[in-house]
Amino acid sequence: MSNLKYGIMGGTFNPIHNAHIRMAEEVRDIFDLDKIIFMPTGTPPHKNNLNIDPLDRYEMTKLAISGNDRFEVSDIEILNKSISYTVETVGKLKEFYPNVEFYFITGADSILDIYKWRNPEKLLTLCKFVSVRRPNYSDDLEGKIKEIVDKFGGEILLVDGPLLNISSTEIRERVREGKSIEDFVPKKVVEYIKENKLYI
Ligand code: ATP
Ligand code: MG
Repeated sequence: MSNLKYGIMGGTFNPIHNAHIRMAEEVRDIFDLDKIIFMPTGTPPHKNNLNIDPLDRYEMTKLAISGNDRFEVSDIEILNKSISYTVETVGKLKEFYPNVEFYFITGADSILDIYKWRNPEKLLTLCKFVSVRRPNYSDDLEGKIKEIVDKFGGEILLVDGPLLNISSTEIRERVREGKSIEDFVPKKVVEYIKENKLYI
């Protein structure tokens, strides 16, 4: 039996930004995770107007984590032509890595999405959740987490994280307005966005 612990960092990553990277690093350190798998979503039902090729989101994620040997990116959901449900994705990872304990990492806003996800009860038996505080979203996060656990069971661990007020929405807006994004996004991703004329 191995005692490996992997994090799964799910997101649209449109584009990936410094808060994503920093929160993954902090969660990795706090729980001593062996590896974090970044999992860019396919085109999820509630975000079906993304207006960007999923492969661009995948490429940017790959560039952002390059050089960090504890970070990996998975194309499972990107390559799935139908809708990917988290419970199925985590189920596949568990089959592939039967002896690994998984920690699914979300921000304070996304943990509440779990009510809309498929089969949260089962998902919470497959992995632990880590909920990272996010500026403007963390009001009574403890209470909200307690409600989720009371309803579905499982374990949700709350961490403070880097508390960076960054969002992909703001980055897309800044690019459209011709403003600089260097402070919010890894350099290689800034270059990719410029070269491929994304978000203009
Ligand atoms: P968008 O504005 O397009 O929704 P986003 O910045 O929220 O983009 P996502 O790809 O939606 O980024 O987020 C992926 C995961 O990272 C989610 O669980 C989200 O809650 C979390 N997250 C994103 N930004 C932050 C942040 N600044 N602090 C904490 N968690 C964050
Ligand atoms: Mg978001």
